[in-house]
Amino acid sequence: MTPAFLNANILVTNIMDGENMFVSEAININKLNHLEIGGCDCVELVKEYGTPLYVMDEGLIRKNCRIYKNAMDKHYNGSGMVLYASKAFSSMAIYKIVEQEGLGIDVVSGGELYTAYKAGFPMDRVYFHGNNKTIDEIKLALDKNVKRFVVDNFEELNNIDRIAGEKGKKANISFRIKPGIDAHTHDFVQTGQIDSKFGVALENGEALEIIKYASKLKNVSVVGVHCHIGSQIFDLGPFELAAKVMLEFISRIKEETGIEIEELNLGGGFGIKYIPSHDPIEYDSYIESVSKVVKGVCKEKGIKLPFIVMEPGRSIVASAGATLYTVGAVKEIKNVRTYVSVDGGMADNPRYALYESPYDAVLVNKPDADKTDVVTIAGKCCESGDILIKDIALPAIKAGDIIAVLATGAYNYSMSSNYNRIPRPPVVLVNEGKSRLIVKREDYEDLLRNDIIPEDLNK
Ligand SMILES: *Cc1c(COP(=O)(O)O)cnc(C)c1O
Repeated sequence: MTPAFLNANILVTNIMDGENMFVSEAININKLNHLEIGGCDCVELVKEYGTPLYVMDEGLIRKNCRIYKNAMDKHYNGSGMVLYASKAFSSMAIYKIVEQEGLGIDVVSGGELYTAYKAGFPMDRVYFHGNNKTIDEIKLALDKNVKRFVVDNFEELNNIDRIAGEKGKKANISFRIKPGIDAHTHDFVQTGQIDSKFGVALENGEALEIIKYASKLKNVSVVGVHCHIGSQIFDLGPFELAAKVMLEFISRIKEETGIEIEELNLGGGFGIKYIPSHDPIEYDSYIESVSKVVKGVCKEKGIKLPFIVMEPGRSIVASAGATLYTVGAVKEIKNVRTYVSVDGGMADNPRYALYESPYDAVLVNKPDADKTDVVTIAGKCCESGDILIKDIALPAIKAGDIIAVLATGAYNYSMSSNYNRIPRPPVVLVNEGKSRLIVKREDYEDLLRNDIIPEDLNK
C-alpha cells in the first residue's frame, strides 16, 4: 500500500536480521548509513540546526490528513468534516498545512485559536473545545466567528449565551457528552464513566437537561453532540459503540423535545505505533466503520443522517516527528543500569514522566549497528523521573553520538516547558530532501522576556 513505508521497513529488517524495524514510515537509512527523515540526512540536520531538534516530516503529515479526508469523502459522501485536534502540535505552519489539506481544526484554548487565526486559518472550520473556557476566550472565539463551540457545562453555556447576546451574535453550539464508554479496558465496556471533568453525562439525564435548557436560550443555536472516548485506542469497537449510543441519544432528543440534531462529532483517539509491538489499524477504517454504523442506526431509528465530525490529533502528527539529541555522559552502574544522558529530556518530552509512555530510538549516525547494550535514556533535568526511554536495546553508545527518539510529533513540542530554564528546541519541517525551520530555537533572552525586577529590588 505504502511503498516508502515498506521499503524502509524491508531495508531495516534485512539489515537487522528481522530483529527490529522503525516505528515510522517517515524514516529511512541513506547511503552514508545515516538516519534519514523526509529525505534529509539527520547528521546534516544536526550540523545545521543543533540539538535537541524536533524534526517533522511534512509529506507524512499531509499523507495522514489525506487518508482521513479521503475516507470521509469515500465512505460518507463527504458529508462530514475531519478536524485536526491541534493540541497535538500547534504552530502557525501546521495550521497552514492542515488548511491546504482541506481539514478543519479543533482548538482548546485562546492561544491555539489565536495561533490559527494569525496563520490565516479559515475560522469557519474551527471548533472550540475545552472544559473551562474563560470569558476572554469566549469573547475571542465569538469575535473571530468560529464555526462551533463545543459546550462543556451550564456555566459556560450561560456565559456564551450572554456574551453572544452582548455582541449581537448567535453562537452555534454542540455539547460534549459522556457516553459512558470506557475505551481503555481491553474488553471495552459501557460503564458509568461519569467521573470525568469533561462534559455532561447521559446516564443521569444531565445531557438531555442541558440540551432542553439551551434550546430555550436566545443567543445560541443547538447544532450537535460530541463525544471523545479516549486516546491511543487500537480498536474499532469503542467508536462503533459510541456512534450507536450517540445516535440513540439523538433519536431520544428528537422524541422528547422535537429538536433535530444535525451534527455528530465522535472525537479522536486513534492509536499510533510508538514501539514495534504496537499494532494500529488503518486510519481510514475508523471513518469507514463509523459511517456504516451511522447509516444503519439512522435507518433503523428513522432519523436524518447527521453531518459527521472526527478529530484525529496524534495520528496525524505523531509518527511524522522525531527528536534528535546529542549524547553526553554515559554512566554504567555495574549490575544495575546504564544511563545515557542526552541534551534534552522531560522539558521537550514529558510523556514518560507523565504517563510512562514508551518510545523507540535509533542511533542516528549508526542506525544499523548491532544492538549490543541495554540502556536507559535520561534527560538533563534535575528530576530522577526525567527519563525518555527506560531499558532500550541500542548499539554501543558514546558521548557525541546522536540519538533519534521516534514518533515524537504529537504532544511533545506542545507539552514542552522551560523547566530548569532550558530553552525550547526548534522545529524543522522536512520534505523531499529539503528542511525549513517552522519554530525557532529559544535562546536565553527569550527566557527573560517576561521577567521583571521591581525597582525596589534593584537597589
Ligand atoms: C485530545 C482530543 C482529540 C484528539 O485526540 P488524539 O488522541 O490526539 O487523536 C480530539 N478531540 C478532543 C475533544 C480531544 O480532547
